Amino acid sequence: MSRTVNLLDGNTIPAIGFGVYQIPDDITERTVSQAIEFGYRRIDTAAIYGNEGGVGRAIHTTSVPRSELFVTTKLWNDEQGYDSTLRAFEKSLATLELDYVDMYLIHWPLAKERKFVDTFRAFQKLKADGLIRSIGVSNFTRAHLEELITETGEVPVVNQIELHPRLAQNEQRQFHASHGIVTEAWGPLGQGSTLTIPEIMDTASELGKTPAQVVLRWHLQRGTIAIPKSTTPQRIESNLDVFGFELSESRMAQIDALDNGDRLGADPDVMW
Ligand code: NAD
Repeated sequence: MSRTVNLLDGNTIPAIGFGVYQIPDDITERTVSQAIEFGYRRIDTAAIYGNEGGVGRAIHTTSVPRSELFVTTKLWNDEQGYDSTLRAFEKSLATLELDYVDMYLIHWPLAKERKFVDTFRAFQKLKADGLIRSIGVSNFTRAHLEELITETGEVPVVNQIELHPRLAQNEQRQFHASHGIVTEAWGPLGQGSTLTIPEIMDTASELGKTPAQVVLRWHLQRGTIAIPKSTTPQRIESNLDVFGFELSESRMAQIDALDNGDRLGADPDVMW
C-alpha cells in the first residue's frame, strides 16, 4: 500500500493527512509540529478554521523542507466569485506566510448561488500563476461536478466529502473513479462516532490495532485518502501507523455493511 496517491494533474498527495478543524490557532502550531515530527507530510486547513496562521508557523519552524509538505486550504463560502476568490486566496497565503499552497479547495458548492464556476475559473488563474499546485473541490455532488466539468472543461483532482463507515458514499466514489477524481474523506472517523461500533472494536482487538487504525485502513484499502484530526499526541502518531497491516476481504465487507447513510455534517444539496 503506497503512502502517496497520484493526482490527475501529475502531482502526488500523501494518502493520510492531518486535519486541523476546530483546533484553536494558539495550539495549532504545536499540534501540527508534532504531526510533522510523527511523519505526517500533509496538513488540511481552511480559511474558516481560523488557524492558517498556526499551520504556517509550524511549517516555518520544522526542519522538513517545504517541498516535502503538502498544504491544503479552502475558500470559504462568502468569498465565492472570481474577484473575491483572488482576494481571499491572497489573504490565506499571507496568513500562512507561504509562497504557494499545494491544493486549494472550494469548501462548499453553494449551488443555489451559482458562483462555483466563476470561483473555479479564479482557481485556474491562481494555478496558472504558480500560486496553487492542484485544484480541488469539497462537498460537491455528482450534479455539481458534472456542471463544473461541462462549463470549465477541467476536472478537479480531488473531491473532499464526508465519508466514514456510516456514510460510505459508494455511488459518489464510483463517479469520481470514472473521472479520475481522488476521493478524500473528511470526518474519516465519523468524528469519533465510528470507533465504538462493535464490529470495528472486534476487528481492532483481533488485529491488535486501535479502532481508528482499522477505520483508516478501511479507507486506504478502498482507495480513499483521509485526514483524521486529533490533538492527542499518541492518537496523532497511531493514526498514521496504518501501512503495516491489512484487513481481510471479510473484515472489509463487514465494515462496508455498516453504511446506513448517516450524515454528521450538512447535506450539500440543501446547504444554501
Ligand atoms: P474525524 O473523523 O477526523 O474525527 C476527529 C475526532 O475523532 C477527534 O476530535 C477525536 O476526538 C477523535 N479521534 C481521532 N483519532 C482518534 C483515535 N486514535 N482514538 C480515539 N479517538 C480519536 O473528524 P473531523 O475532524 O471532523 O474531520 C477530519 C478533518 O476533515 C478536519 O480536521 C478537517 O481538516 C476536515 N473537514 C473538512 C470538512 C469539509 O467540509 N471539507 C468538514 C469537516 C472536517
